[in-house]
Amino acid sequence: MILAENIQRVQERIAAACARAGRSPSEVTLVAVTKTFPPEIILRASQLGLRDFGENRVEEALAKISNLPSAFTWHLVGHLQSRKARDAVQLFDAIHSVDSVKLADKLSRICIEVGRVMPILLECNVSGEESKYGFSVATDAERAYILSEVKAILALPGVRVEGLMTVAPLVANPNQARPVFRALRELRDELAAQFPQASWPHLSMGMTDDFEVALEEGATMVRIGRAIFGVREVN
Ligand SMILES: *Cc1c(COP(=O)(O)O)cnc(C)c1O
Repeated sequence: MILAENIQRVQERIAAACARAGRSPSEVTLVAVTKTFPPEIILRASQLGLRDFGENRVEEALAKISNLPSAFTWHLVGHLQSRKARDAVQLFDAIHSVDSVKLADKLSRICIEVGRVMPILLECNVSGEESKYGFSVATDAERAYILSEVKAILALPGVRVEGLMTVAPLVANPNQARPVFRALRELRDELAAQFPQASWPHLSMGMTDDFEVALEEGATMVRIGRAIFGVREVN
């Protein structure tokens, strides 16, 4: 069964990258990104030992998550519009893609209303590409500005900031993404020093094409789709 082999291979590659970096694979959460794949395949992946799954769109997740056992941990890894925040709170266990104070505030209010606290990551656009979501952090001025935004988000009682997330640019050689991953780690360290009231454990970075480099640079969550489930027909 190809799925079993793919999962095993990814886990071996994670272990090897961790070993190179002197890290323990137990520090790393493999988030299997299931977008475009049906519930049957997700169920099969869970039977092969995966428990953390990621979706990038609320609508698609709505149709899938309710058809699967509630023991799975669901991560929203794609952009979230404020008007879909309520569905996101209902569906997901963690949100990796918080990219504004406004969205964090909306999530916080809904979480308070329903009596929970949502673990969130702050998505950062490290490379400065126009096409990417996330807080801009490329220039010194932008980095200064994010400090005030982080301060506001940390004051929200319904969300708990646990770290940062980024999507690296598409590059020919994964090593070219290394500076992006390193910059995210450095930003996290800076924020952790500035805001010790939060614990900042997580760096969600690394996908099929670049997860080993991300792990060498400190990723604690890798979001992997194609290396597990194969090539997607659409998006
Ligand atoms: C699709 C997606 C992934 C997984 O991408 P692969 O290249 O298939 O591993 C990870 N993160 C986000 C935000 C995604 O949208």
